[in-house]
Amino acid sequence: MNQLEREKKMPKLTPAKREEIIRRRENISDKDGKKHPITNLEIHHKDRNTDNNDPKNLRVLTKDEHQDLHGKGRTKR
Ligand SMILES: [Zn+2]
Repeated sequence: MNQLEREKKMPKLTPAKREEIIRRRENISDKDGKKHPITNLEIHHKDRNTDNNDPKNLRVLTKDEHQDLHGKGRTKR
């Protein structure tokens, strides 16, 4: 896939787009299956490539779940 095709197929994730994806999934976290306020939800890119906004590459997670996944905000023992 060349650069032009990539940009057409995978538009950057704008705040509006983020919100649309979260709403489309009814504010439900992919991880716990529960509903959360949209302000507590984030989009995770399964392949860690934030340019790949294919729906199959996206997960809706709460902020905590998302941080956990990336190993941030956690004290090591
Ligand atoms: Zn992520």
